[in-house]
Amino acid sequence: MKQYEFWFVVGSQYLYGPEVLETVAARAAEMAEQLSGKLPYKLVYKVTAKTNQEITDVVKEANYDDACAGIVTWCHTFSPSKMWINGLASLQKPYCHLATQYNKEIPNEEIDMDFMNLNQAAHGDREHGFIAARLRMPRKVIAGYWQDEKAQTRLGDWMKAAVGVAVSKSMKVMRFGDNMREVAVTEGDKVEVQTKLGWQVNTWAVGDLVKEMNAVTEAEIDAQMAVYTASYDVATDDIAAIRYQAKEEIAIKKMMDAEGCKAFSNTFQDLYGMEQLPGLASQHLMAQDYGYGGEGDWKVAAMTAILKAMGEGGNGASAFMEDYTYHLVEGQEYSLGAHMLEVCPSVAAGKPRIETHFLGIGMNEKDPARLVFEGKAGKAIVVSLVDMGGRLRLIVQDIEAVKPIMPMPNLPVARVMWKAMPNLTTGVECWITAGGAHHTVLSYDVSAEQMRDWARMMDIEFVHITKDTTPEKLEEELFLKDLAWKLK
Ligand code: MN
Repeated sequence: MKQYEFWFVVGSQYLYGPEVLETVAARAAEMAEQLSGKLPYKLVYKVTAKTNQEITDVVKEANYDDACAGIVTWCHTFSPSKMWINGLASLQKPYCHLATQYNKEIPNEEIDMDFMNLNQAAHGDREHGFIAARLRMPRKVIAGYWQDEKAQTRLGDWMKAAVGVAVSKSMKVMRFGDNMREVAVTEGDKVEVQTKLGWQVNTWAVGDLVKEMNAVTEAEIDAQMAVYTASYDVATDDIAAIRYQAKEEIAIKKMMDAEGCKAFSNTFQDLYGMEQLPGLASQHLMAQDYGYGGEGDWKVAAMTAILKAMGEGGNGASAFMEDYTYHLVEGQEYSLGAHMLEVCPSVAAGKPRIETHFLGIGMNEKDPARLVFEGKAGKAIVVSLVDMGGRLRLIVQDIEAVKPIMPMPNLPVARVMWKAMPNLTTGVECWITAGGAHHTVLSYDVSAEQMRDWARMMDIEFVHITKDTTPEKLEEELFLKDLAWKLK
């Protein structure tokens, strides 16, 4: 992701004379350089814009340049905003207005009219903000002193969400087999998703995968086994089952890399010619930041890859997840999340174990190898993208993951346990009312605010279930949003 950068575009005008403009340009360059050392991506000072032409030119260049993941604007002085209209109206990249100021304090002795004319961001940023509001620009507004950690963290978080936009627009998903028969929520309009989010979602034959698997050499499998044994504890004697998963992983990865795909889906209903559902194979691919969705769920597959990209350099993880079962004892109300096999080891609290167990669902001739572990504790979110027919809705719920309160020694899969906000039953009522799926991306790394930013930039509906959400307020919100989105 390090190839991405952001452009710093500073507004001004000719009114103040060349000396002020030189000062503004020098300070803007200094700020971009210092901020680049603190932010997850480089901030490149581009221009002190004084004319309509300069703004239009820099926007055209930003639109065209794949390395530019967004623009950050600021007005050191006053910058009349009619000259921003043509440029902003053609902007196709994420846009953040950083309402800051070069100096932190008002200097009591030094301040005079010259100082005020140079340092009038409070004035200039309001004019700039108006035109973006007037143009209904989807943008992020961040106010704060540029050297303060809080402002820098917020700008960095927004940058990561904007990189999520760039990743989304180039997302390719490889589907092996169709969606699980009769399931509604994993369906969706692939043409709409490509138009809105940029995703290219296409299918490849399971037979082609089997052909690729048959071409994998013993030496390639040996190398993959060395990676597995270095990363995980082997807790099975069935080495052949692990080798089979290695073969599956190598073949899937080769096919995805050949097509430039960053996510894939498959289904237990279509494993024709395969001995095992990919378990360890899918899990280890997710550990390498590929997205995955079970039962043909290509939406959650792409979202998993996007959240992983957004969370790069973070301290946690993002994983394909499924709400499986509840613990409804008063005072100890938890959701237990897992999947048939495919839980990403990036959420593991300890070192995962490779185990083999019988799997009755699907057409497994042999017991598939999978990673078994407990998820880590911590604040997190679950994210679901659903197709409402005519538009996409992104639902985010705040959760708190805990160390599972019981060992569950006979559960043969990885597990994560959490408390949903505002509490289990109200949280479930809200989630179901909003139409959230059973599949989600669970992330310890990406925040709800970042997902809100991403949804705004992608121009899709956003619903956030928090500690303060009530079913009554949510029902009203969904009703009004339904009307609003029909008018859009
Ligand atoms: Mn599932």
